[in-house]
Amino acid sequence: MYTHFKEKNMLHTLKTYFGYDSFRPLQQDIVQNILSLKDTLVLMPTGGGKSICYQLPALLMEGTAIVVSPLISLMKDQVESLQANGIAAKAMNSNNDETENANLRRECVQGKIKLLYISPERLLSEMNFLLKDIKISLFAIDEAHCISQWGHDFRPEYTQLKAIREQFPRVPIVALTATADKITRQDIIHQLNLKEPQIFISSFDRPNLSLDVRRGYQQKDKTRTILEFIFKRRNECGIIYCMSRDKTEKVAEMLLNHGIKATVYHAGLSASARDKAQEDFINDRVQVVCATIAFGMGIDKSNVRWIIHYNLPKSIESFYQEIGRAGRDGVKSDTLLFYSLGDLVMLSKFAMDSGQQQINLEKLNRMQQYAESDICRRRILLNYFGETMDRDCGNCDVCRNPPERFDGTIVVQKALSAIIRTDQQIGTRMLIAILRGNYFEELTEKGYDKLKTFGVGRDIPARDWQDYLLQMLNMGYFEIAYNENNHLKITEAGKKVLYGQEKAQLVVIKREEKPIKKKKQTATPLLPQTPLVLSEEEKDKELFEELRILRKRLADQQAIPAYIVLSDKTLHLLVAQRPTTIEEFGLVSGIGEYKRDRYGKEFVEVIRKFMNK
Ligand code: ADP
Ligand code: ZN
Repeated sequence: MYTHFKEKNMLHTLKTYFGYDSFRPLQQDIVQNILSLKDTLVLMPTGGGKSICYQLPALLMEGTAIVVSPLISLMKDQVESLQANGIAAKAMNSNNDETENANLRRECVQGKIKLLYISPERLLSEMNFLLKDIKISLFAIDEAHCISQWGHDFRPEYTQLKAIREQFPRVPIVALTATADKITRQDIIHQLNLKEPQIFISSFDRPNLSLDVRRGYQQKDKTRTILEFIFKRRNECGIIYCMSRDKTEKVAEMLLNHGIKATVYHAGLSASARDKAQEDFINDRVQVVCATIAFGMGIDKSNVRWIIHYNLPKSIESFYQEIGRAGRDGVKSDTLLFYSLGDLVMLSKFAMDSGQQQINLEKLNRMQQYAESDICRRRILLNYFGETMDRDCGNCDVCRNPPERFDGTIVVQKALSAIIRTDQQIGTRMLIAILRGNYFEELTEKGYDKLKTFGVGRDIPARDWQDYLLQMLNMGYFEIAYNENNHLKITEAGKKVLYGQEKAQLVVIKREEKPIKKKKQTATPLLPQTPLVLSEEEKDKELFEELRILRKRLADQQAIPAYIVLSDKTLHLLVAQRPTTIEEFGLVSGIGEYKRDRYGKEFVEVIRKFMNK
């Protein structure tokens, strides 16, 4: 009876405040565990729904929940979205002035705040003051991997959080993270001194993210593909990750030249320029951010619809974390990875020069295997994170378009023979020039134009050679001597093909070709293009657009990001369900009572008008 009551209560609170009808896997067990005052460790992928796990207990328990978070921007985002649901949440960090803090302290002591977000430094300095004066329901440690030197975002301030357990032995602690291997996991438990914590690990699969890899593209092809990709996704924002600062700027400039609102984000910019880029992105003032890896940790923007990797990332961890920034709201989102020989050369160099050569080369190797895979890519990712998947995903390029092979022995022989004839003293650029029969000074100086193989690969375009060479490298026919000017060295396996003892199977290269014209992005389509009768799908799109514009207006009025007013997922549900009364509006998933009362009237009006058109 009692547990039944509690369960009903939990679901009721979930619906009232967050507008959700049911829990996601593990959420309910986690909430239950915290309500039983037990320590808890939660591992869930980005977008998995970690926040609810401690926010719901905070609402159901007496007192204030103290949430430790490493970044001011993350706190801001969380506090805004809680407030947008009518929940009393506040943040205490170095952004506040003295009066704000004095007010905040008073509200806390009066028991008016349900969730207090706080930086680790502040937490320590308030340990014997504010925290002793208020009733604390629970401690939540967000981004808990920051406590471990093994993790990738180590923050020394986090290590002092062990004081919490000593000072508040009876208050439950819940630690949450999206990235923690076994060592980091143990470290979190050990350092926070958690008492027999229950560990909840959810699947790291993100089925709503599509996976796509393009191999061996040169800059021109990348540009064309990126423009096509973005033109197909007007008004949908995304991130392009690049290996260098310089590249982020070039790509952003290229996009701007094509009328796409883009900005850059990298460590070479001033703090204020970086803040501006982030704010512009969060508030949908720019569609695209071209960034180095530094971008994204500080944002919770739920409607990032796509991620492009302009270059190969250095490890699967980085890759998965970066694509994880798309589709946090669970709506279908796309990811695209470009993978070229040049990237591989550069990244291998970085790895060799790093302090941890072996580990980093191994990580790069695994990343390369992913990019090269001819089995379902999601299987490889999940397998890497220690999960097994017993079927193909159907949402990656390999599943959708399985690679076809052909007997490429002659192609391979041409390339290997050119390498042999130069005494293995050339890199890929020179090799392709020899095969294609191109003349340039360095080539003729060395007499390579006199070789028997000069021009034997003229029938294959240079970019296809790039692709084939990458395939040959991955099949182990040659190696790149990174310590010898990246010269190519034929392996034993390569020799077997070269001398006709074995055949080589290559993957057929498929490319869709379409020239891209420069065009300006316009919000309204030109009149002649608008058909008189719209299909259902087009109608849905039009309504979505109208709702999106209303959402943006409401967001701007309150100076909060649009996705905090309503998520993309909720907008899609509104389009599908078309509620025409405020009550119906309140039943849509993601709309709690507070949002129903605040926004219901205006959204319902737009929907009604649209339906009467
Ligand atoms: P995380 O912190 O794990 O990255 P969030 O807590 O931000 O993820 O949740 C990701 C998205 O999923 C948010 O838009 C959130 O509102 C939504 N969400 C969480 N729990 C549920 C649920 N039970 N039902 C529907 N949506 C949910
Ligand atoms: Zn797949």
